[in-house]
Amino acid sequence: MKNTLRLAATLLLGGVSASTVAGMTEWLAPQDPFPLYGNTYYVGTHGIGAVLITSPAGHILIDGGPPAAADQIAAHVRALGFKVEDIRYILNGHEHFDHAGGIAALQKLSGAAVLGSPSAIAVLKSGQPDKRDAQYPDLVPLAPVANTRAVRDGEVVKLGPLAVTAHFTPGHTPGSTSWTWQSTEGGKTMHMVYADSLTAMASDSRSFSRNPLYPNARADGERSIATLEGLECDVLVSAHPDFGDLWERKARATFVDRDACRKYGTVAREWLAKRLAAEAQP
Ligand SMILES: [Zn+2]
Repeated sequence: MKNTLRLAATLLLGGVSASTVAGMTEWLAPQDPFPLYGNTYYVGTHGIGAVLITSPAGHILIDGGPPAAADQIAAHVRALGFKVEDIRYILNGHEHFDHAGGIAALQKLSGAAVLGSPSAIAVLKSGQPDKRDAQYPDLVPLAPVANTRAVRDGEVVKLGPLAVTAHFTPGHTPGSTSWTWQSTEGGKTMHMVYADSLTAMASDSRSFSRNPLYPNARADGERSIATLEGLECDVLVSAHPDFGDLWERKARATFVDRDACRKYGTVAREWLAKRLAAEAQP
């Protein structure tokens, strides 16, 4: 059971391990881009989230998928009628291969500034995984990213009419960040949330709850779940869209679900409880 969970976790939640090849199939599964709400569009693959927030003053892209998804994401932006060269900022959820590996290529194509938490930016700049990360033994280097800048927790990234707020949600990695903004359609304004991964995961040789390099991982994880649950949240997109029920909402033809962030938090709490129970066994 534990192995099944770990395999599922690796496939769905973005560890890069022995299951990378199987994970890749899922991460690169094709997905036509589509509008989420107002000026916000889904431009990721079927397995890995990426979001484009558009404005006449330029666009903001959140996450870049794994390296092999960068071309798909760029093609999705163009298919929606926007120019990759008009992306001014690329924001990162967390500093793992499956969400950040494609950012170097997308940064080159766009010339955008790449923003994330200080811990995430340290990994993106150097390309070297964070030794504190509970998945460190399974992580692979990233292509180093140019034109990076670290943001503060609560910082608002502004571009023309756009304003996107950083919420640090560490735990899954030390640098995890979720992002919120507002989008308007037909006179109705919605609170949009890009939720980063909240799952407590560790490589076989590592512990999530007793990691001397990252002793706050558990406390951070618990606080980050509470942060997510407390957000004003009308339209949720998560770093792995399956975990935020994106495809179920797409099938219902509405992405608005005011309980989506609380449900996402509940799932993360269950994962954390399972992980801690497994680690408590001698
Ligand atoms: Zn991850």
